[in-house]
Amino acid sequence: MITDSHAHLYWKDFDGDRAEVLARARAAGVAHMVVVGTDLTSSRAAFDLCAGEPGLFPTAGIHPHDARAATSAERAEIEALCRRPECVGVGETGLDWFKNLSPRAEQLESFLWQLDLAQRLDKPVVIHCRDAHADTVRCLAQFPRVRGVMHCYTMGPAELAPYLEAGLCISFSGVVTYKKNEANRAAAAEVPLDRLLVETDCPYLAPEGRRGKRNEPAFVVAVLEELARTRGASAPELARATSANAARLFALGEGA
Ligand SMILES: [Zn+2]
Repeated sequence: MITDSHAHLYWKDFDGDRAEVLARARAAGVAHMVVVGTDLTSSRAAFDLCAGEPGLFPTAGIHPHDARAATSAERAEIEALCRRPECVGVGETGLDWFKNLSPRAEQLESFLWQLDLAQRLDKPVVIHCRDAHADTVRCLAQFPRVRGVMHCYTMGPAELAPYLEAGLCISFSGVVTYKKNEANRAAAAEVPLDRLLVETDCPYLAPEGRRGKRNEPAFVVAVLEELARTRGASAPELARATSANAARLFALGEGA
């Protein structure tokens, strides 16, 4: 059994063939998918999608790109979604100093709010970090009891230590398959097996050979195969371990 720990399956990219995408995922062994919200509208869409699909689990949160647009009323709605028993995590939140689609102060404030929410609810937080390593670590240090995942970890081995020391899981995406990404593969070789997750971040970040095309959960197999090569392990062994880790972190039951 394989778990795609981060998928945006509600987006319009999948409107034309969502049933086929899910069928291909299940045929490839991807039985569990965490469907991650990025603002109030998409978080609601994640809950709606997961309610009718076995093995799909929603989160609710505000992406750093969307931090600027979120009102306090929307935050209250996000918190209400996060409190629902079927919600497996808080986020996607974090910091993006690369695109800077929201002002930094608003990203920081939104990230700290969601870290606090995750710690209060004792639910894992899903963290996006792009070109913001030092500030992400500083924010995390304020919430010592927070659990969660560094989603789509794209950095190298040098940046791993503070996240592992904070008890976080580290999730690798199609980025680990990219030809020039030796540093990311070196990080993937160092993460302890009980902290490792895999994801697609679909529809983005299709693996090498499909770059620039739409990604989908079935393609998480390519991430597992790359990790197997990198770690000198077998893909089925890594599928089992990463699924067990995801089930533990997100408290995944059988879903809808
Ligand atoms: Zn995402």
